[in-house]
Amino acid sequence: MPNIDSGLQIDSSYANALEGMYVSFKGDLAPKPQLVKLNRALADELGLAVDKLEEAQLAALLSGGNVPLGGAPLAQAYAGHQFGGFSPQLGDGRALLLAEVIDKKSARRDIHLKGSGRTIFSRGGDGKAVLGPVLREYLLAEAMHSLGVPTTRALAVVSTGETIMRTQPLPGAVLARVAKSHIRVGSFQFLAARGNTKKLTALAEYTLARHFPNIQDTANRYLKLLTQVCERQAFLVAKWMSVGFVHGVMNTDNITISGETIDYGPCAFLDVFDPSIAFSSIDTQRRYAYAKQPSMALWGLTRFAETLLPLIDQDETRAVELVTVVLNDFEAAYQRQWLICMRAKLGLQTAQSDDVTLINKLLTLMVEDEVDFTHLFRALSGLLVDNETALNLFKNKAAFQQWQLLWLERLADEPIAIDERSLLMRNVNPMYIPRNHLVEEVISAAEQEGDFKPFEKLLEVLDKPFTKREGLSRFAQAAPESFGDYATFCGT
Ligand code: AMP
Ligand code: MG
Repeated sequence: MPNIDSGLQIDSSYANALEGMYVSFKGDLAPKPQLVKLNRALADELGLAVDKLEEAQLAALLSGGNVPLGGAPLAQAYAGHQFGGFSPQLGDGRALLLAEVIDKKSARRDIHLKGSGRTIFSRGGDGKAVLGPVLREYLLAEAMHSLGVPTTRALAVVSTGETIMRTQPLPGAVLARVAKSHIRVGSFQFLAARGNTKKLTALAEYTLARHFPNIQDTANRYLKLLTQVCERQAFLVAKWMSVGFVHGVMNTDNITISGETIDYGPCAFLDVFDPSIAFSSIDTQRRYAYAKQPSMALWGLTRFAETLLPLIDQDETRAVELVTVVLNDFEAAYQRQWLICMRAKLGLQTAQSDDVTLINKLLTLMVEDEVDFTHLFRALSGLLVDNETALNLFKNKAAFQQWQLLWLERLADEPIAIDERSLLMRNVNPMYIPRNHLVEEVISAAEQEGDFKPFEKLLEVLDKPFTKREGLSRFAQAAPESFGDYATFCGT
C-alpha cells in the first residue's frame, strides 16, 4: 500500500530539533489489521480525513503498517526511574510517534501508536500489545477526559490478527493515542545521564517553545520551566485524588512535562475509600498507593529538577538552592489545588480556614466505614433533598450525622441557594466512573466473544459521567461481592 494521504497536517518539529533523541522506525505490518474502534470526534479535531479513507487504509495507518504522506514515524529515546531504580535507557520499546500534527485549532499534537512492533529500545520485549489492556486504556483515558482530568486521548483501536503470547495466547492490538507531546521527565533524564548539556538545553528550549511559550524568552526560564511543570503536576494529581484515581506506575518515564496523565497500565479507580490501596500487582511496597501520589509526584519532579541544575546556574550549590525553593512550594501548591477540588465536591464556593478539617473529618469517617468514594460524594450532592442515601453508606450513623451538622453549619455561610448548589455539586461528583468490574466485563466480552457492544455501551455511559440517565443504574453500582480484590498488570 502506498503512503496514505491522511488529510493530517504533519509537522516534524521534534525530529527536526532533537536529533539523537529518537530513531526513525516503521511499525510492523499486521497480518489482518481491523479497525475495531475509532474516536470520530477526536479524528475530526485532528483533521484525519476519515470519510475519504477506506477502513482498510485507516486500519493500516493506525496500526503502524502504513505511513501517512509527509510523515516519518520514530521511536523516542528516554530514561527513567522505575519503582525508584534508574534505567538510563528505556525509550519506545513498543510504541511509535506516528506523526506530529497541527490540529484544526492549530494545536500541536502527537499521534502515537502503542503495540506497533519492536524497536531498538525493545530490550527483551516483543514490541506488542494485546487487546484487553488496549481497550482498558481507551476506556480509562476517555473517561478521564470526560471527568475533566488532563490526559492523553484515545484515537483508535486496531486488532492486528496476531496471537501474542503472554501468560496465555491473546489477541494482538494497537492503540492509537493522542498527546500534547510525549516529552517526559525521563526525556530530560536521558540526556542528563549522558552529561549532554548542549542537547539538554535544546530539549529545554524545545519544551518551552512547545508548552510554555509565555516564559520562553524570559530570564531564569529554566527555573520557571520547573515551576510551571510543578504547578501542572500539582493540578493533575489533585484532580486524580478528587476522582479517586490511582495511576499505579508513576515512574519518571510516565510523568509528562505537559501535565497530562499518561500510560494507563496498572491504573484503577477506587471504589471503597482506602488511601493505602495500590492496584499494580508488582507494586508490593505500595509505592504508588492512592495516598502517596502527591509525594511520589514530588519525588519525580525532584528528579526533573536535578536534570535542570546545569542549565539553571553554573554554580551547582546556587542551582540546588534555587530548585529547592521551587520544590518546597510543591506541597502547598498541591494542597491549594486539592482544596479547590474538594471544596467544590462539598458545594463550597467560598474558602474558610477550617474547610480542610471538615474535609479530612469526612475522609476519615469514609475510611473507617469503608464507604464507596464515588457513591458518597454523589449522594452528598443530593443530600439536602434526600437524607437517606448518604447516611446509609455509613455504619457509624451517629458519627456521620455529627459531621453532617458541621457541614450544614458551614454551608449556611455560602451565598447560593440549595438547588443551585446541588446542581454544581452534581457537575463535579460523577455518577459513572470506569468501575473495575465493568471494565473487566466489557474486555472479556470483546476478547472472548469478539463482542464490542458492551465496550461501546460503557464508553457511551462514561462520556457523560455527571449526567444521571434512565436505565443506567447498573453502571453506577458497586462491584458485586464476588468480584473480590482487584489487581492490574503493567507491560501487558
Ligand atoms: P511502561 O511500563 O509501559 O511504562 O514501559 C516501560 C518500558 O518498557 C518502556 O520503555 C516500554 O517501551 C517498554 N515495554 C513495555 N512493554 C514492552 C513490550 N511488550 N515490548 C517492548 N518494550 C516494552
Ligand atoms: Mg511508560
